[in-house]
Amino acid sequence: MKAPRYVYDFDEPSDGGRELLGGKGLGLVEMTQLGVPVPAGFTITTDACRAYMAAGGELPDGLEEEVAEHIKRLERKAGKRFGDPSDPVLVSVRSGAAVSMPGMMDTILNLGLNDDAVRGLAERTGSARFAHDSYRRLIQMYGEVVDGVDAHRFEQTLSDFKQRRGVPNDVDLSADDLADLIETFKRIYDEEVGRAFSQDAREQLSRAIRAVFDSWNSPRAQVYRRTYEIPDDLGTAVNVVQMVFGNKGDDSGTGVCFTRDPSTGEQGLYGEFLVNAQGEDVVAGIRTPEPIERMRTSMPQAFEQLVETMERLEKHYRDMQDIEFTVEDSRLYLLQTRAAKRTAAAALKAAVSMVEEGLISKEEAIGRIDPSQLDQLLHPMLDPKAVFEVAATGLNASPGAACGKVVLDADTAEERGKAGEDVILVRWETTPDDIHGLISAKGILTAHGGMTSHAAVVARGMGRPCVAGCEGLSIDLERRVATIGGHEVPEGEVITIDGGTGRVIIGPVELVPPQINEDFQTILEWADDVRRLKVRANADTPADAAKAREFGAQGIGLCRTEHMFMAEERLEIVREMILASDEDERRAALDKLLPMQQSDFEGIFEAMAGLPVTIRLLDPPLHEFLPPLEQATDDRMRQRIKALAESNPMLGTRGCRLGLQWPEIYEMQLRAIVRAAQAVEERTGAAPLVEIMHPLVGFAEELRRLRELTVRTVAEEGGIEYLCGTMIELPRAAIRADEIAEHADFFSFGTNDLTQTTLGFSRDDAEGKFLTFYLEHGVLERNPFETLDQSGVGELMRIAIERGRTVKEEIKLGICGEHGGDAASVAFCHGLGLDYVSCSPYRVPLARLAAAQAALAEEGAATYVAAGR
Ligand code: ADP
Ligand code: MG
Ligand code: MG
Repeated sequence: MKAPRYVYDFDEPSDGGRELLGGKGLGLVEMTQLGVPVPAGFTITTDACRAYMAAGGELPDGLEEEVAEHIKRLERKAGKRFGDPSDPVLVSVRSGAAVSMPGMMDTILNLGLNDDAVRGLAERTGSARFAHDSYRRLIQMYGEVVDGVDAHRFEQTLSDFKQRRGVPNDVDLSADDLADLIETFKRIYDEEVGRAFSQDAREQLSRAIRAVFDSWNSPRAQVYRRTYEIPDDLGTAVNVVQMVFGNKGDDSGTGVCFTRDPSTGEQGLYGEFLVNAQGEDVVAGIRTPEPIERMRTSMPQAFEQLVETMERLEKHYRDMQDIEFTVEDSRLYLLQTRAAKRTAAAALKAAVSMVEEGLISKEEAIGRIDPSQLDQLLHPMLDPKAVFEVAATGLNASPGAACGKVVLDADTAEERGKAGEDVILVRWETTPDDIHGLISAKGILTAHGGMTSHAAVVARGMGRPCVAGCEGLSIDLERRVATIGGHEVPEGEVITIDGGTGRVIIGPVELVPPQINEDFQTILEWADDVRRLKVRANADTPADAAKAREFGAQGIGLCRTEHMFMAEERLEIVREMILASDEDERRAALDKLLPMQQSDFEGIFEAMAGLPVTIRLLDPPLHEFLPPLEQATDDRMRQRIKALAESNPMLGTRGCRLGLQWPEIYEMQLRAIVRAAQAVEERTGAAPLVEIMHPLVGFAEELRRLRELTVRTVAEEGGIEYLCGTMIELPRAAIRADEIAEHADFFSFGTNDLTQTTLGFSRDDAEGKFLTFYLEHGVLERNPFETLDQSGVGELMRIAIERGRTVKEEIKLGICGEHGGDAASVAFCHGLGLDYVSCSPYRVPLARLAAAQAALAEEGAATYVAAGR
């Protein structure tokens, strides 16, 4: 067998792509092929790194010889020798994995210098300053990367040195200064490492290669890989690149540049440049770089070449590029190119313009957008340029940022909100009694409660920013003061919350408004043309329904009727109904509620004219509507509250169990639905597409009885066209879906409860507690409440669909859990063959895009892959 080959020159063909050569290596090879000016060099493959790791840190046989061969080739091209004391060629040794892991691994510049060669370099170039600067950088980087010398020691020494010389910048140090600095750096190296800095160029190179391989397993690289789910066994390639020098004087410099503006996507070069500098100086922020445009006048020749090269690269890659370059004596060299990281707005603009420019197809444009980034555009955000201190953090319960005065109760929130003030409602937790305060506030902050707490659910429904479960928050209602992260904030003072990240900031922070624009609409229209899944919204009010339509929802997949029960003026009546001691009393209260529900339904039907509306009958445990025991006004009430108390309400008297025990409740809701549908048809001439949904069914017999109730009640009211179906949100329902399908026109997977009941996790008890531990310690990779547990919960869905279809082939299938707004889960639902997903109105655009990408992926098209892949 032929010995494996581990090294390829940039101008040599290889079969391997990114996996073998790494992203940086492949870019250098492709640029070389394109005739873009790239220094000479070669790539040591990821195979070599994997062999090195497998052998416990031994370079594989033959690698050193191959490297020596390629160094010879490099010497021939450069016309200079590596390690030559009179005229040395220098190299950099650079990491570069198949997936980009910015800043996670190491690079060493100026390898090949020693005490003699530095003199040779100075003579040859006529610049001692430049030669010394290069050498001190080598000792510093090599010491840090290869021998683990504390970076701080070199930096501190350098900054003390500048201070003593009274100069602000590295460039102000003279050749003699730098010679002194070299001596000091060598002494530090000696002290820390226990031997002198290596004078042997080949030893430097060999140890640098090992160090870069080793950096694959550095703690920070491991943490990064875990965060972005990058496999640990990929390994990194190593690129050995002839040095070009940006630190040679005023005709030299180094910079980074984008083919389009990475924050807006506008066409035109965007970047930064530093004169007389090397490598990292631009990003390190040591000196303030100049905008790239300056080069036009200061280095016209190199600038022209840069413009032309970037155009070529973008054409070649058909995507926005982000490059690193160096100018040495007015000559341009490219050192790296890659697909540019960009904001959501920039991604949209660039994709749409590239289609217009004929660079990419619409399908490719759809694949270029990260669905989860779209959320950024729909809510106000903290200005990315703003500087602030985070006082406390809680759960990111509902996205968007808000800024306003602290108010500590719902009445004050309503009062001040109505007076036109921006307020943030700050509570230990919220209850249905607070709803008017939630409506009036710009944002909600609570100390208790999880992602399904009242505050969180209501806020998400309203699209209002919310940070819940903020442990650093406490409230003193007597003194009217909130304490946030140890700081006292009296009512009326301004705070800012970021519901997308859970951050709480004392004082105002600049916000940027939502950025829905033409590009956004264009991409989503293209997405609509290719997707098969329909996208509906979860919406409980006409306002939400209208918002959902604006975002492109094709109906309502879940209209929760309990939210209508929670409105302030109704809660009183709802409580009468619940506390009633007999059916007559209960019916009397229900009679009062009926016209209210009817008018709600009318509003929603009209907002959704022509599109289906799935209405779920009352679902939550009744205690959610009751006042706390202390607030009971009399003994009878106290007794009822006690009687209704449950130790595990999530598994208690709720869902269809309510409807079966107290059929008059569902009857009232059904009458309201029918009357509303009739009224709307009469008014508008078009009958609403009504779907009536029964929650928490586990047994076919439950649904059989409820369907009977439904059919009878609808008929009593004079009848309408409708479908009658059920949620599938209990494992038993999934397993017995064939029996249940006999009584259902549709199934809607309620994956929130299905996840809770399948995993045996109560969401509120899991998130922020043991689930956080599980995620941190890698027991679970994803939060199953955010991304569907495909092999567990997803398998139950598959079973339910299969069994349901044996009885009713054409049964309509949807999902209405929060997973309907998660890109990976949407793709999974596409694969299952569901008819639609339903998610919160603000997630509708994401779901439209994710559904299109799933359809394209099925046809083998390249689609967006989450960061790191
Ligand atoms: P990173 O992946 O952290 O960006 P790089 O390997 O790209 O690390 O290198 C760090 C810096 O050094 C970059 O600014 C790069 O352009 C510069 N650099 C790397 N190799 C050379 C070289 N041969 N000549 C000049 N500059 C180089
Ligand atoms: Mg780089
Ligand atoms: Mg449910």
